[in-house]
Amino acid sequence: MVEQPSWKSEGLGTKKRVALWLVQEVGAGSVFTKEQLRAAFEGVSQVDRRMRELRDHGWQIDTNREDPALDPSEHRFVSQGVPVWEPGMASRKPAESVGAAQRRAVLVKDNYLCRTCGIGNGEAYGDDHGATSQLDIARRKVLLPEGDIEVQLVTECNRCRTGGRGECDLGAFGSALEQLSPYERKMLFSWMERDARAFNEVEKLWGVYRTMPAAARATAREMSLAHT
Ligand SMILES: [Zn+2]
Repeated sequence: MVEQPSWKSEGLGTKKRVALWLVQEVGAGSVFTKEQLRAAFEGVSQVDRRMRELRDHGWQIDTNREDPALDPSEHRFVSQGVPVWEPGMASRKPAESVGAAQRRAVLVKDNYLCRTCGIGNGEAYGDDHGATSQLDIARRKVLLPEGDIEVQLVTECNRCRTGGRGECDLGAFGSALEQLSPYERKMLFSWMERDARAFNEVEKLWGVYRTMPAAARATAREMSLAHT
């Protein structure tokens, strides 16, 4: 465990100091203004830009675009990303802008679907506004099973992108998996392989059962009870 340096440490780069300032002075969940940021880093150039760059490392810092409750001069430090002040951490990130080839690769792997809502590219959202989707690449903070944090790319539509998705916790996913029965795990794995949820046998039988006449339903219930 690396000890967290002070945000005032002169030896650190501006981006690292801004990250530490957010953690130590603002605090996750709190609002800060551009003026407060500039005042803390008086005389340091491009502080705003360094602050925005933290998003490339999985930091969630909202403006009034993502959070309409904010004033145009305000930001909300929602959650911390990669601890960029730790040795080697600042360089662990996807390229600043996602290149065309990388973008295409992510879209192909994600089956050209928004991984949050499942919409395809150019499809109608089906609401009154008649808006259609536009797929883009977003960065998602992933907590690896061993506890490390990594920023990975994911396909999201323009609407879900502004929703500010939380992080993805593979450790918690693993713990929840362990709670499933072997049958449930097998079912889940088959959905993963198809990248779609299929009706399982239980749901199929339920579909058959609910259309039965009352007397047949009673018999079906007795048959099920006999098997429990
Ligand atoms: Zn979406």
